[in-house]
Amino acid sequence: MKPTVFIPDPIAASGMALLQAGCNCLAPWLEGKKPDKELLAQADAVIVRVFEIRADDLSRATRLKVIAKHGVGVDNIDLAAATARRIPVLWTPTANANAVAEHTMALMLALARNLYPACAATFAGKWAKFEGVELAGNTLGVLGFGRIGRRVAQMARHGFAMEVRAYDPLVTQSDFTLESSIEAVLRAADFLTLHVPLTLETRHLINTARLQWLKPNCRIINTSRGGVIDETALAQALQSGRLAGAALDVFEQEPLPADHPFLRAPNLLLTPHISSSTRESLARMAQDAAQGVLDVLQGKKPKYPINPEVLP
Ligand code: NAD
Repeated sequence: MKPTVFIPDPIAASGMALLQAGCNCLAPWLEGKKPDKELLAQADAVIVRVFEIRADDLSRATRLKVIAKHGVGVDNIDLAAATARRIPVLWTPTANANAVAEHTMALMLALARNLYPACAATFAGKWAKFEGVELAGNTLGVLGFGRIGRRVAQMARHGFAMEVRAYDPLVTQSDFTLESSIEAVLRAADFLTLHVPLTLETRHLINTARLQWLKPNCRIINTSRGGVIDETALAQALQSGRLAGAALDVFEQEPLPADHPFLRAPNLLLTPHISSSTRESLARMAQDAAQGVLDVLQGKKPKYPINPEVLP
């Protein structure tokens, strides 16, 4: 009998084609329907993007043999519960780093040159002058120096002649300047970019106290997870003119609620969690996730397990 794969969120056609060759695919979005958690009960495998898998969902998923995350932020999966059930959790760590890094640079340039207000003014018939700043010669602070943080650092240094200073407790050697504290990075940064995972430790990493360490002309970019910033504190810092600007792709609650203080804050550029949404990256994530699921279902070793200890 063919195994059943539940795909609650849309994935690229190339990933679907890999799965459809040998599996029954439960993909309600193909018929314009919302995903139903009850489908987990029929699934041998599940591939998720934003769909949440919590411990009580797993207790219903009695046939489940593998969970694949299409992407890298696995905060929507209860990893401990899956590991306790000895279900391998896979991810696609190399598929989207470049796309997120490019979006980060796009946001940085847009902030530096006031692209959003300049565009809005021009559309409104106003021929206004906007004075920007250059990236070259300015310092980029990077918190989290993993795949995406390092890619951004390379682009910033080699493409835009920025000075880079990074902090990451797990990285001790690099061609880039590594600081020994978050404070040192924040005090030096003209632009600050965040590339840490959302964990208990990194929740509200950027809070009222740490915002005070930033230079008044600093601009913040966040393409990691919304919860890494205390959003109320950031909205207040923008309202008071304490910071020159911010560009955010991720939020504590998505979609952003209509009464969110960000929607009234000045010098803010917002995008709807699209950093990794390039045609190329979406295809790579779908194919990597699908191949990982097939590998586990066929008894082979998957390429990107997060909890390899549960594999035979
Ligand atoms: P990664 O695991 O390669 O790198 C994360 C780094 O953060 C690690 O080196 C880790 O040591 C470091 N870190 C952990 N805690 C830290 C702390 N307190 N201070 C400084 N550094 C700390 O991950 P990655 O592929 O670079 O992705 C980073 C994050 O970006 C992901 O966890 C994910 O949440 C987010 N992301 C967002 C999108 C999007 O569409 N917006 C897409 C992909 C990834």
